[in-house]
Amino acid sequence: MTSSDSSPFPYEAPVSAELFARGRGVTPGGVNSPVRAFQAVGGTPRFMVEGSGPWLTDADGRRYVDLVSSWGPLILGHAHPAVVEAVTAAARRGLSFGAPTEREIELAEEIRERVAPVQRVRLVNSGTEAVLSAVRLARGVTGRPLVVKFAGNYHGHVDALLAAAGSGVATLGLPDTPGVTTGAAADTVVLPYNDVAAVEAVFAERGPQIACVISEAAAGNMGVVPPDPGFNAALRRITAAAGSLLILDEVMTGFRVSRSGWYGLDPVDADLFTFGKVMGGGLPAAAFGGRADLMDHLAPVGPVYQAGTLSGNPVAVAAGLSTLRHCTDDVYAHCDEVAAVLRGAASAALFAAGVPHRVQQAGNMFSVFFVPDERRVRNYDDARTQDVARYTAFFHAMLARGVYLPPSAFESWFVNAQLAGEALDRVLEALPAAARAAAAAGDGAGAGPVLSERSS
Ligand code: PLP
Repeated sequence: MTSSDSSPFPYEAPVSAELFARGRGVTPGGVNSPVRAFQAVGGTPRFMVEGSGPWLTDADGRRYVDLVSSWGPLILGHAHPAVVEAVTAAARRGLSFGAPTEREIELAEEIRERVAPVQRVRLVNSGTEAVLSAVRLARGVTGRPLVVKFAGNYHGHVDALLAAAGSGVATLGLPDTPGVTTGAAADTVVLPYNDVAAVEAVFAERGPQIACVISEAAAGNMGVVPPDPGFNAALRRITAAAGSLLILDEVMTGFRVSRSGWYGLDPVDADLFTFGKVMGGGLPAAAFGGRADLMDHLAPVGPVYQAGTLSGNPVAVAAGLSTLRHCTDDVYAHCDEVAAVLRGAASAALFAAGVPHRVQQAGNMFSVFFVPDERRVRNYDDARTQDVARYTAFFHAMLARGVYLPPSAFESWFVNAQLAGEALDRVLEALPAAARAAAAAGDGAGAGPVLSERSS
């Protein structure tokens, strides 16, 4: 940072640094999910102690405007009073029963009412679990082995789907993950995203063996790369013709980009959908659902086994139900509006600083690609042309000014309904200096993740 761009906020985070050192002594990398370790951007991950509305407070007592929103779930902002009240009331009635409750039915009904092709819902604990269950169901129903996925899409850490995965796998530049057997990966076909011809080709060759195609409804795990118009519909057409199932993964987009998720913006009737994040309201709840005739292959009705000690947990269900019920039209309108303001301001600041870039959106999800030629980013190969050194500089300049962005160039920014007033002003004020920092950092490390801290 130049002196004229110096931050008004103290940047050092001694308490977080101490906690990070302590954490690394007891937890691999000091974190419970890799991207949190700041490996791609370097520096000290901030340990958080409190969230309120659009703000996060770290262990050093510094406040940040949060543009991560817990990676998507907190569309209502942190500690929304009604959600906290619902959770507290549920907890007082008991933390877990291991027996069915009425609220689970209500949450399933809320989901079904929003996403028309979903006739039956099963609740699980994480997006990963939703996806692996949906894929097992697809294989069980069709009796076929192969799963087709797209490079740069992330579906959780499901063995068979970690090949060419986005999110943390992309952030860390991991080639393949040790621990996934050849057998588990052999039944996965990875294709370029947004490439209908590639899908048609693989179906022409191996169609009768393909159980399902799984795709993020709109990709958000390689940065935001929406499907080309008609791409999801083409997947629907091709899979239906071959007797394969289509799974649209709405873990990230579901109930975030509209009250019906990506389905509300691009209504393609997949066979199965996966959900998570917003529908858990910040607690561990997720779901998969789809046509009744398919879902009824699940135990106890059918033979495909799937279960969970804490599935449908009453406290998590209370958080999810309360969140969905408070996701009014105003909430989505505000998120859309504030996302548009930020996209415009980020782009203007980068343009003024002479930084080549491209801002892409899928509804209110968006990200900034520091790509050299400003062409539309359509797939993972395009996304990987970004100059991550620029993002790193941009990220730290924002952090220094009290704005918490995703600590990776390969992630979406997530706004929330509380982002307004002082918090929004702070982001807008920080952008020009961050853009200048990105300009100064340009053409350094080139494309590819920053790996310097991997061995630490
Ligand atoms: N699917 C998508 C599209 C996701 O974005 C994620 C997580 O970011 C997952 C699945 C996995 O969800 P979880 O982290 O809850 O296991």
